[in-house]
Amino acid sequence: MATLPLVCPHGHTDPRWFADDEPFEDPTSLLVTPDHYVTRMLYSQGVPLEALGVRPLGGGDAAEPRDAWRTFAAHFHLFRGTPSGAWLHHVFGEVFGLTERLDEETADDSFDHISECLDRPEFRPRALLDRFRIEVITTTDSPLSDLAHHHQLASLPPETGMAGRVLPTFRPDSVVDPDHDGYADNVAALGALTGRDMHRWDDYLAALWDRRQATIALGATATDHGHPTAFTADLDRGTAQGLLDRALKGTLDAPGKEMLRGQVLTEMARMSTEDGLVMQLHPGSRRNHNREVHQRYGRDMGGDIPGPVNYVDGLKPLLDRFGNDPRFRMVLFTLDESTFSRELAPLAGHYPALFLGPPWWFLDSVEGMLRFRRAVIETTGFANTTGFIDDTRAFLSIPARHDVARRVDCRFLAELVVDHRLELDEAHEIVTDLAADRSRVVFNLARS
Ligand SMILES: [Zn+2]
Repeated sequence: MATLPLVCPHGHTDPRWFADDEPFEDPTSLLVTPDHYVTRMLYSQGVPLEALGVRPLGGGDAAEPRDAWRTFAAHFHLFRGTPSGAWLHHVFGEVFGLTERLDEETADDSFDHISECLDRPEFRPRALLDRFRIEVITTTDSPLSDLAHHHQLASLPPETGMAGRVLPTFRPDSVVDPDHDGYADNVAALGALTGRDMHRWDDYLAALWDRRQATIALGATATDHGHPTAFTADLDRGTAQGLLDRALKGTLDAPGKEMLRGQVLTEMARMSTEDGLVMQLHPGSRRNHNREVHQRYGRDMGGDIPGPVNYVDGLKPLLDRFGNDPRFRMVLFTLDESTFSRELAPLAGHYPALFLGPPWWFLDSVEGMLRFRRAVIETTGFANTTGFIDDTRAFLSIPARHDVARRVDCRFLAELVVDHRLELDEAHEIVTDLAADRSRVVFNLARS
């Protein structure tokens, strides 16, 4: 088990790391400042984000890396009992070989030790891909991205071992959600990039199609959609055109915005039946819930809070059209665990197009993963689920996250064996499948 490769079909690492293969700069910008799991906990206990190296949008001071590290170390005890604490312990001990517990006293030594490691060739991004046995990892890419780093990766010589290893994912939220920061400007940029008229619904859809194809050309096998809900719609072209017109003018009301997002999801599903991209839906995060933090620092600062999601009613228009289409595959995620057994497992256990992604974000913990297995497997079986998905920008925590998931799966399967609900050889087969094959199959990722 421990020697099986890691398959990472959804995540948020920066493709630049693997394209340039430059050393990571310092411990703080690698492990603290960009990790909103980390900053939100410290913020909740009164640590200003500036003290962790986060710079306000309008400019202003932020702590230097060593000072921010000292603040982080002095508060590291806050992560006791949390998955972030477990992952960071793994990173410190397994990746960097630190033996002392991180606190105020050990802050400087650990900063120096990690800094020295990062200067060494074996801690460069590509060397770590090898060390972590990452077979394939995907990034998250806007339709507005020129995908320059993925072009750079695709042109690397074969001896780098990088062919097909870092793949893009098409994530169009910034041009399909009228509530997204800068929506109208983003759509205008999409028009400029594709040479299409964004005031015409058909052209708008064609531009999205063009960018999907550009992403596919660089190896993408999936899309991802971070919508506030799982609402979908199936509208006629005229109605959709009217919604787009008002969205671009900034006059669309909240129900109209939801309708437009819902229509785009159905259009994305239609495109998936044609180009084969596996569609991932990550709904239910009330993004930027903390208005002050959002205004001061921007997105992804830890102020996203889960809300309830209705999948059964929300997805019906989309499933009415494509739920039985053998060309269509959709992976559902949730932050609302009340839907595990009531909605998600029955949906995925019936519609051929649907698969369940593993516990996500606030639920990717030991207890969250166990609750998921107990709630869904009796209805979905294992084949209607994907393998584990680390879904992180914290690159160095990826082995820890997969390790925890594999241990949880072993524990769950061991219980089934002890209860005589499974034979031991069946459990072995399942756990190997969950560790790597499931994700290869569901996400069409060829084995290297
Ligand atoms: Zn994600």
